[in-house]
Order: sequence, then C-alpha cells, then structure tokens
Amino acid sequence: MTEQATRVTVHGPRREGVPALEARRLTKHFPLAALGSRGRVVHAVDDISLALPQGTVTAVVGESGSGKSTLARLLTGLIKPTSGQLVLGGRPVGGRPRERRAYTSDVHLVLQDPFSSLNAAHSVRYHIQRPLKLHTRLRGAELEATTVELLERVSLSPGAEYADKFPHELSGGQRQRVAIARGLAVGPRVLLADEPVSMLDVSIRLGVLNLFDELRDNENLAILYVTHDIASARYLADTIVVMYAGQVVESGPATQITDSPQHPYTQLLLSAAPDPSRGRAPVLRGKGSPPSLVSPPEGCRFHPRCPFAMPVCSQRTPPPLPVGPDQIAACWLHGEPDGAATAE
Ligand code: SF4
Repeated sequence: MTEQATRVTVHGPRREGVPALEARRLTKHFPLAALGSRGRVVHAVDDISLALPQGTVTAVVGESGSGKSTLARLLTGLIKPTSGQLVLGGRPVGGRPRERRAYTSDVHLVLQDPFSSLNAAHSVRYHIQRPLKLHTRLRGAELEATTVELLERVSLSPGAEYADKFPHELSGGQRQRVAIARGLAVGPRVLLADEPVSMLDVSIRLGVLNLFDELRDNENLAILYVTHDIASARYLADTIVVMYAGQVVESGPATQITDSPQHPYTQLLLSAAPDPSRGRAPVLRGKGSPPSLVSPPEGCRFHPRCPFAMPVCSQRTPPPLPVGPDQIAACWLHGEPDGAATAE
C-alpha cells in the first residue's frame, strides 16, 4: 500500500447524480503459476477508482500490458478483484445469484474480436433472440419484432433481412454491430467495449465509433471504451483515463488530456499517435519498454522510462495531483516531493 492510501481519487466524467457503475479501489493481483514462484503475483490493476455516469463515454487508454483489459473484465464481474468493490446504480454488488443475474443484465461486454464472438453455425436471429428468451418473456411475433428493432437500432437495416444471415455473410463491422445489438437485447445501463474496433478495417472503424456515440446520446448508456489508440479516444470519449503498469497516471476531459497532457507518459502516447487536429502537442522520446508487473519499479512505475525522472521518482509513489479543471496527473513534476500538491 502506498503512502497515499487514504486519499481516493475517482476518475471519470463529472456528472450530477449516482453513476451507473462505480469501481471503488479495485485491485487485481494474479498469482504466478510457474515453478518456484510461490507467493509472487502479477500486479495487473492497483487501487483504481472509476465512475461511469449515464450518457457518457470514458476511454481507458494505455499500451498492451497496462492493465486496461483486466480493468474492463473486473467491471464485468467475470473475474473477482483481489480487493475493492463494484457499485451498480449506488448499490454495492454482492455475490448472490440474483444479484449476479441483475448485474449481467445491466453491464454488457463488447469483445475485441467480432469474428469469434459469434457462433458461425447460427444465424443472426439466434444470436439476438437467445438473450431475449433468457431475460424477457417475449415470444412469437413480439420476439421477432424486437429482434428486427434491435438490429435496426445498430443500423443493420432492414433488420428482417439481416436476421436471416449467418456470421460469414457479414463484414467485420456488421458482426460487431450484431454483437452490440445482442448486448442491447437485455437493456443494459453500461456497455464495456474492449478494443471494439482494433480488428476492423480502418475504413469501417469510424462507423462503429459513431454507433457508440449514438448509443451514448440516444440510449443514455454509460460506455467504457478500452483502447490503445488515444486519437480514437479523443474522437469518441468525454473523459480519458490513462493507465500505465496497472495504475492510473492521468485522467481528465478528453480534449484537455490530448491538448494539454501533463503526465510524461501521456505525452509519450500522444507523440506516438500524430494527430493534425491536435495542434502543437509536445514531442517526447520515451526509452525502454513497460516494466515487469511481477516486480514493478518502486516509486513512480514510469521512472525507468521517463526523461524527466528525479531522485524522488524512484523512491516515492507520486499521488494524484490536480493539474487543471477536472484533470489529474500522478507525477512529481506537479507537486512537492514532500506531498504538498501544487493545485492549480
Ligand atoms: Fe517522470 Fe518522475 Fe513524473 Fe514519474 S513522477 S512521470 S518519473 S517526472
């Protein structure tokens, strides 16, 4: 536990009211299975608090191995946290079967690979109607009408024609839309999308991102968009949360994070993703590669790669510090090493 253990910073869009889903101090350590590794763990996610209000998109951005996909899976409830709590609509989520069923209706995961997320042996109609039969009393003509309506809500129109198709008859983007329609069938409050466009052709990515945009606005969904691509996060999200080595290093409004990144790692990500609309972003040459999560570096986990590292960086973990309106960065460049933050 760090010296900042008593200070809890909740990342995510600022909105009035109860968030659709909250993560409170989520931590996930995976035990190492290898011989001679007894007691050693992988620090996949460490002490992250996040709030997802209705009608917003929160992007979680980071390199491969930053812990962003583990965070998404913790939020689905598919894996249990080592510590921490999920809170759905203001209520802590327990482990009783009834609570679990309600949770899986309210929180839906859209997977990265639209090719393996659908069963090639079954039609689109089967994929959409299966959750409808499990979670609702719809049958017969009502079931068919709802199937068509769901497909048309994700711009697969006419829905009746798409219902008869099989996965191999659809493009990658169309398959991802079917996977999203299947998620909408149970009326979720929250969509968790783990790299939902990374396996699609560049030409159809924008259409799927625009669909998430419409779902936020028209269906008032809380959406978590997990991506390694900070440019697409800027395009879609209200808020960007940047993860490095299992921790959040910066968060804030999307345009602010991309126009004025305050953490050296965010600057590194932006330097690697040139975007003409961003204007004069700082250019930073990072060194090395992400650290081992079995024995992460002491202090700031980014210090072995950081061109601005100071002696304190390898000794003490920087706390989350205010660096702009609703913008937070965990970096000693923005506060006194004795812990007194330089709030703006
Ligand atoms: Fe770099 Fe130090 Fe800031 Fe970490 S705390 S990002 S090492 S300057």
